[in-house]
Amino acid sequence: MSDADHCDIPADPVANLAKIRDALDKAMAHNNGVSPPITITAVSKKHGPDRILPLLEAGHRDFGENRVQEALGKWPALKARYGDVELRLIGPLQSNKVRDAVGLFDVIETVDRPKIARLLAEEMRLQNRRVALLVQVNTGEEPQKAGMAPGDVDAFINLCKDQYGLTIDGLMCIPPADQAPAPHFALLAKIAARNGLETLSMGMSADYETAVQLGATHIRVGTQLFGARPDSP
Ligand SMILES: *Cc1c(COP(=O)(O)O)cnc(C)c1O
Repeated sequence: MSDADHCDIPADPVANLAKIRDALDKAMAHNNGVSPPITITAVSKKHGPDRILPLLEAGHRDFGENRVQEALGKWPALKARYGDVELRLIGPLQSNKVRDAVGLFDVIETVDRPKIARLLAEEMRLQNRRVALLVQVNTGEEPQKAGMAPGDVDAFINLCKDQYGLTIDGLMCIPPADQAPAPHFALLAKIAARNGLETLSMGMSADYETAVQLGATHIRVGTQLFGARPDSP
């Protein structure tokens, strides 16, 4: 087999998951021996069931998708087979997708405005289904990026609770691509601490070690698990 053939072999997600766990253990070794469990969300966007199944068979249950429509195409069947899957929405939620999202996802990490909070509360009541919620914070205050501005988060969390009866479990962020991520992770941890929130979803393939050193409880890993994503879903 030539080297070129070798490149075409798809990455082995189960082996990669073990490597990521090792890297996490190393990254956490400096935290005075105090290592809360880190959830590795396998970001399966653009990958088909053939790539996802080996991880499910190996017992992995935490997955993330960034588009409701795409997730609807593959996850209902997989969830029927593996009942305890925890599926997390990590991409922007449009109001016309709230019903589907509440029906399919177990966690929505991208709550970022009052209208979505109101619709989520209504839909959870209608479907009699509780979905865990994180607020996405636009730590870099990038105009093109989803998420709530850091200065507005405290008031928004209170609004969710007082106005809509929603419990917010934590925060999520995607740091600007062209900046060092650490200050963004630290900012997210600070906002979470002052609001008494425990779940911190931060860190992706390139920076999850930094994220766990700054308090991440959940990391979202796609490329390092599955290899490069195909161009289309
Ligand atoms: C795609 C995606 C990831 C995974 O990114 P990788 O760099 O492939 O690990 C994580 N978080 C969000 C919000 C994503 O959209």
